[in-house]
Amino acid sequence: MLRFAESARCSLAPAALVALALTTAAARAQTAAPAAPDLRVFDPTLIDKSVDPCDNFYKYSCNGWFKRNPLPADQASYGRFTELFELNRVHLRQILEQAAPAAAARSANEQKIGDEYAACMDTAAINKLGIAPLKPELERIAALKSAAQLPALLGHLHAIGVNAFFYLVPNQDFADSSAMVSYYAAGGLGLPERDYYTRTDAKSEEQRRQYAAHVRKIFILAGEPEAQATKDADTVLALETRLAKASLTITEQRDPQNLNHPTDVAAFSKELTHFQLADYTAAAHAPTAGRMNDAEPKFFAEFNALVADTPIAQIRTYLRWHLLHAYAGTSLPESFDQETWNFYAHTLNGAEKQQERWKRCTSRVDGELGEALGQVYVAKYFPPAAKQRALDMTLAIEQAMDKDIDSLDWMSAETKVKAKDKLHAVMNKIGYPDKWRDYSKLEIVPGDALGNQMRADEFETARELTKIGKPVDKGEWEMTPPTVNAYYEPQQNNVNFPAGYFQPPFFSDKEDDAANYGDMGSTVGHELTHGFDDEGRQFDKDGNLKNWWTKEDEDKFNARADCEVKQYDAIEAVPGVHLNGKLTLGENLADLGGLWLAWLAWLDKAQAAHIDMAATTDGYTPDQRFWVAYAQQWCTQTRPEQLRSQALADPHAPDEYRTNTVLQDLPEFAKSFSCKKTAPMAAPTPCRVW
Ligand SMILES: [Zn+2]
Repeated sequence: MLRFAESARCSLAPAALVALALTTAAARAQTAAPAAPDLRVFDPTLIDKSVDPCDNFYKYSCNGWFKRNPLPADQASYGRFTELFELNRVHLRQILEQAAPAAAARSANEQKIGDEYAACMDTAAINKLGIAPLKPELERIAALKSAAQLPALLGHLHAIGVNAFFYLVPNQDFADSSAMVSYYAAGGLGLPERDYYTRTDAKSEEQRRQYAAHVRKIFILAGEPEAQATKDADTVLALETRLAKASLTITEQRDPQNLNHPTDVAAFSKELTHFQLADYTAAAHAPTAGRMNDAEPKFFAEFNALVADTPIAQIRTYLRWHLLHAYAGTSLPESFDQETWNFYAHTLNGAEKQQERWKRCTSRVDGELGEALGQVYVAKYFPPAAKQRALDMTLAIEQAMDKDIDSLDWMSAETKVKAKDKLHAVMNKIGYPDKWRDYSKLEIVPGDALGNQMRADEFETARELTKIGKPVDKGEWEMTPPTVNAYYEPQQNNVNFPAGYFQPPFFSDKEDDAANYGDMGSTVGHELTHGFDDEGRQFDKDGNLKNWWTKEDEDKFNARADCEVKQYDAIEAVPGVHLNGKLTLGENLADLGGLWLAWLAWLDKAQAAHIDMAATTDGYTPDQRFWVAYAQQWCTQTRPEQLRSQALADPHAPDEYRTNTVLQDLPEFAKSFSCKKTAPMAAPTPCRVW
């Protein structure tokens, strides 16, 4: 994936205290289309000529943008992706507000997205209800009297979207990508990932104290006496720490071999001696038999032991926390919402102000009913001509990769044949699904924000679990059409580019190929290269986890990849925190390989079109504009807290390094700007895999 989906962060973000009347003229006036910003793919007015491009190309290309775009108080980071994301969000808001009034002409999908948006926006009603809508679920948890009753309760909680203990999702079998099997994986943590529980530095210890304080406050808001809440928060932290210690690190999870433990449900249930799996699957509406993968056997052994030796009151406390946590966003009163924002967005990531409620409600509808909303969005903002242009570019980049594989001096002819087979089998998915998701069975009730969230989660869990045992649907999308992002799916060998991305400042039909290939072309190349990065290369053309490399070529690949691991390990992102070269390896390989492929594809295009490479536009040659367009997509301001979180847990390097480190490895870049061999923007020994 190119980048974490923005919506994942927003679901933890705050509510504004303004209840907005949806149907009034005043409300409409607030969303009257803002003056369309002049977003350009290559923007010479953003360049800071006081910086030497050979010293720091990121600052050279982006300083003008930084000056024009101070970091908004409600954001932990703000860049060109957020710039477009925010613009898309305004477009989505207009669609939702038009669908929100009880107009006679609404389609079934418009009724759902409109009513869900209106329910989410109605903070007065949500505040008035308090936690009453969660009472039945809290009572279920309170009724848990013994460990023997846990499986049925947990199955129910998973069905309504509560992340306690572990996950059950469908996944393609690693060895046989045509089979969709049950996939049991470690979960159940409230902090971003397992190392937050195990690091021993002062900052991490402080964050754990802050997390316990947050859990305590949520318990108090839910009506617990203070002393009890303090005790319960400690219980939650202790149980989660135990789960975390038994879980794989995020770096270990990058190697699919570490997650590949095929078994079947019957054998797995015998391992769980203190947890009746049959009771769980019945309540979760999950398969009771058949093939499955136990992604983390060590974790499930520990979970089994934990069920046996943990007092039942502590398990109730842990489940109560995860229930409240799951609904503490836009479905519970603003006090919960505010506290959740305070810890996740402010304390962990440094945001200073809550995002306005409409933004969060828009993201919520996109998350729950993304293809209903996306269908209207695409009709309005992604005409067939845009889809064709996007497809043309994708095909050109694939052609460049084909030629590039031929020219690799380190790979044997034997492996090259297999690499090309895989490349030729890549399926290109552009814009939106061919077949839209059917939401007819999801009931959205006006004025019932919490009930709607619960039903939407239930709908989604059931939709997911029914895939198990059925043929794989390769036409399905994991991102919604308005998303400003893209991804490669290794088990399906397909690249996915949502419609929301193919717009300025990343792609424009008003600009030339130099700009578009430098920017969007590099993204297309990035996703394609994921099929051949440290993780993707382990899957064959059909998506099976099957080694198609000769031993010698594999060793050469690893040695070349190791050059990048060391390069990024050496970068200190914030004082005391270095990047993790192994965790970010796949993304770094994709960044470098992707830009290289875009460059090759663009050179071919330019040659075919007889472009004069010495002619200047706005004072820049075509190749210089190619590199600036690449750099300008990454202009981003980030708070130190967020930068720290990113360096610790994000498989993507921070944007400054996605620009400078990648360009340092490309002598073609240094040539375009006549950089000396000793310049900071020219690596003495460049790394290169693809
Ligand atoms: Zn990526």
